[in-house]
Amino acid sequence: MIKLLLFVACGYVLYRLFMGDKKKKEMTQKKNVEKMVATGQMVKDPVCGTYVPQDSDIRVRDGEKIHNFCSYECRDTFLKQLEASRPKENQKNIEE
Ligand SMILES: [Zn+2]
Repeated sequence: MIKLLLFVACGYVLYRLFMGDKKKKEMTQKKNVEKMVATGQMVKDPVCGTYVPQDSDIRVRDGEKIHNFCSYECRDTFLKQLEASRPKENQKNIEE
């Protein structure tokens, strides 16, 4: 009976240690992302809000701005939004 209790206690301690490590890792990862965001190494995907590295391959140049995306799906969504917003601007130019 005592052996069983010890076994359970050990298991609990190991479980706590493992969970603690996992939480610590998540915290450091979060801090790293925050640091990279602060230094401009990570930029926000304008479609879904995920932070992606500034030098990622999936990006779109919009005038002087460069937008980075987490996936081609997000890039396509952004391009569609961009196309949808362009005819209005053209109309404005014509009216002026
Ligand atoms: Zn995205």
